[in-house]
Amino acid sequence: MKKLFLIGKSLKHSISPFIHNKILSELGIDAVYSNFELSDFVKLKEFVEMVRKDKDVVGFNITIPYKEDILEFCDEVSEDVRIIEAANTVKKENGKLLAYNTDWIGFKKSLEDIGVDVKDKKILVLGSGGAAKACIYGLYRMGAKEIFVTNRTYEKAESIKDLFEDILKIIPVEWLKKYDFKYDIIINTTSVGMFPNIENSPFDIENYGASIPVFVYDIIYNPLKTTFLKEAEIKGIKTGNGLKMLVYQAVEAEKIWFGGIDITSNLIAEILNECERKVAKVE
Ligand code: NAP
Repeated sequence: MKKLFLIGKSLKHSISPFIHNKILSELGIDAVYSNFELSDFVKLKEFVEMVRKDKDVVGFNITIPYKEDILEFCDEVSEDVRIIEAANTVKKENGKLLAYNTDWIGFKKSLEDIGVDVKDKKILVLGSGGAAKACIYGLYRMGAKEIFVTNRTYEKAESIKDLFEDILKIIPVEWLKKYDFKYDIIINTTSVGMFPNIENSPFDIENYGASIPVFVYDIIYNPLKTTFLKEAEIKGIKTGNGLKMLVYQAVEAEKIWFGGIDITSNLIAEILNECERKVAKVE
């Protein structure tokens, strides 16, 4: 039986094994996907050595905090990974480790699914970690007009400016309280508000004085409705959570590992429904 893994820290509540194993069994692929907790960088190195030796390993996904660290162990990176400087998917091919990023595609497909057009829009992105870079790349590819990025650690946001210089502006986090700039869309890519700290919000949308955005997106999917989204809904703003992004990035990873497979929209809808039920139980 072929093997696939999710590597990262704190994977206990991850629903990725459910999503991937459902796809594998529905498509009749003889493979199993499991979590592989790695406590530190040394363990990451050992994991990569194991993967190179084990002929049954097809590939793996990467989550917090190794999406950037993994690149030094890969033999080749896709064009997207070169720009985003982070990978969430690795495929083993002819003994080589090839790095891909499907987060940005998951993000893009989720927006298309929700029916939000970012073309020519002014967008505020909260956070500048690995997921932020993938989202910003997606926004860039979809034709956003201006992207404002703010982050708790200003220097980290500054460091991504060069990746997308022409449309990216970095603003200090204090400015969010001081000035009411108008944005068409606000996207949270930080982990603020994620289970179990569900009372927290990354942005005071309740007291946001400028004319309200048309859409607010939180890429967190646990809980399905973060405090940020709840407060936005009270103001009548259309919202979206990160579950679709999660499922679509998984679908894209499966296509990379097992080229030529057809994952139908019916199967995707079924997975989304089951994931919603699973997350609601954890909340
Ligand atoms: P990351 O690289 O570790 O970045 C975390 C980001 O959150 C940084 O910008 C960090 O700011 C900010 N942050 C963390 N704690 C904070 C706090 N207490 N106050 C203010 N800012 C804080 O992680 P990531 O990979 O980008 O993931 C971020 C979130 O996205 C996670 O919740 C993850 O589950 C979610 N995600 C969802 C999907 C999906 O498919 N839906 C995919 C990927 C990630 P500093 O730079 O100041 O530390």
